[in-house]
Amino acid sequence: VPIDLLVRNASEVVTVAGGSRAPLRGAAMRDLQRIDNGAVAIKDGKIAAVGRRAEIEAEVAPSPETTIVDAGGGIVVPGLIEPHTHLLFAGSRVDEFHMRVAGAGYLEIAARGGGIARTVAATRSLSAGDLAAIGRRHLDLVLGQGTTTVEIKSGYGLSTDAELAQLRVLRRLSEECPNTIVATFLGAHAIPPEFRGRRQDYVDLVADEMVPAVARERLAEFCDVFCEEGAFTVEESRRILAGAARHGLAAKVHADELSLSGGARLASEIGACSADHLNFTSPGEASSLVARGTIAVLLPATPFFLLAPRYADGRGLIDLGVPVALATDFNPTSSISSMLFVMFLACLHMRFDPSEALAAATINAAHAIRRADRAGSIEPGKLADLLVLAVASHREIPFYVGRNIVRTVIKSGKVVAGPPDPRG
Ligand SMILES: [Zn+2]
Repeated sequence: VPIDLLVRNASEVVTVAGGSRAPLRGAAMRDLQRIDNGAVAIKDGKIAAVGRRAEIEAEVAPSPETTIVDAGGGIVVPGLIEPHTHLLFAGSRVDEFHMRVAGAGYLEIAARGGGIARTVAATRSLSAGDLAAIGRRHLDLVLGQGTTTVEIKSGYGLSTDAELAQLRVLRRLSEECPNTIVATFLGAHAIPPEFRGRRQDYVDLVADEMVPAVARERLAEFCDVFCEEGAFTVEESRRILAGAARHGLAAKVHADELSLSGGARLASEIGACSADHLNFTSPGEASSLVARGTIAVLLPATPFFLLAPRYADGRGLIDLGVPVALATDFNPTSSISSMLFVMFLACLHMRFDPSEALAAATINAAHAIRRADRAGSIEPGKLADLLVLAVASHREIPFYVGRNIVRTVIKSGKVVAGPPDPRG
């Protein structure tokens, strides 16, 4: 069989296979499938074969046109899957970071003009072309960090026109950029300033006008709600998500990030695709996620970056059998965009085992955005999205935090970061 690209000389190929139908949970997150001295053959942007080098080289025929990627004794893992970002935004909030490290609290920063409203104003004022340029830069950044599939939320428009405009930019980016992009509508991110004192009107606008408009243009697959004190109540969130479901948008919930808001309970009641954050979720509410198959998406970079040291009980969730994924939450106040760094934080602050962190950043993250049928593991027929990392074992990944261990990024069968090694 002639092939387009061959990756060989890997100390191990961690395929993370076996979780395409249902996410990995419990002990299965620790026991990842891998192949020592492995190779991966790629044809037409898909994985054609994966196995031991000798088997693969006997089975497939590299031609003079075949690109050879020599892993140099490093490891090969699936391209990382990022299931929760807000990376399409304008303006910088670095000054809020400076205030925070100087000791200012959330309320003080808000009183001095910080917060979501500031990003909304900056993002609304940009042309589609200028916003797309920012999106392209952020997508290049995360691709170089090994993220080949990325979920991106709207939510810095907060009017029908501005939300639609952001989602149209995402659609344009998904046509132009190599990254796989999954779009989520987050009109219920905050009550915009012009609706202050009229929150019910805004909830009606999101549910009755924005959701149908987003669905009509097929601009998003998911609808998310910031269910939190000061944002949207459980009942408001339920109303928006139920309407979104009727329009074919699957539910996600920002749940229990800053307090026990009831978001996780709502997610399990409505059978949401994912419940995200869960910093304050009780074990009882967490175990209700298991029955509905809701993925727990944990975001340790947010409390880390915001100096709010309350982390989700990742260890407890995994031990309860909840399918757990990781994400960065890359947004204007938290600049962490690296899934590898998030894997480190999950080990350090949530007591993940390194193998669990990799499962959570690949196949389980793919389930959180309904891409597990085509991404998240190295199996024949899936998208040829994979990384060569300059470590000897996947168990070393979180140890080398802060070092760039990404040697090569392959997206849909093409080397998009790091040069392919010279032939032979
Ligand atoms: Zn978020």
